[in-house]
Amino acid sequence: MSRSPAAILLDLDGTLYLDDSPIPGAAEAVAEIRRLGIPLRFTTNTTRRPRSELAALLSGMGIPAQADEIVSAPSAAALAAGARFPSRQAAASPGLLAGIYRA
Ligand SMILES: [Mg+2]
Repeated sequence: MSRSPAAILLDLDGTLYLDDSPIPGAAEAVAEIRRLGIPLRFTTNTTRRPRSELAALLSGMGIPAQADEIVSAPSAAALAAGARFPSRQAAASPGLLAGIYRA
């Protein structure tokens, strides 16, 4: 009996693309994961691009993706800070804020 994973997390750079060029087979692999109905999120530690830009980059490579499917370092930090300090405000650099809010 085979079991599907509860979810799959895929890193972006070095896994689905390399230096903004798609890695052969990546689009097909993601399409198969989606066809199987396994929950999927894309992960990245980049702080240079907002999730909306990353989603557009993936989509342009034949990997349709929505910004809210991408967990970036800024978005993960914002989520963790919001959970730990729900009534506090945080300060961050303009680049980090862009990564959080320009999704
Ligand atoms: Mg990587």
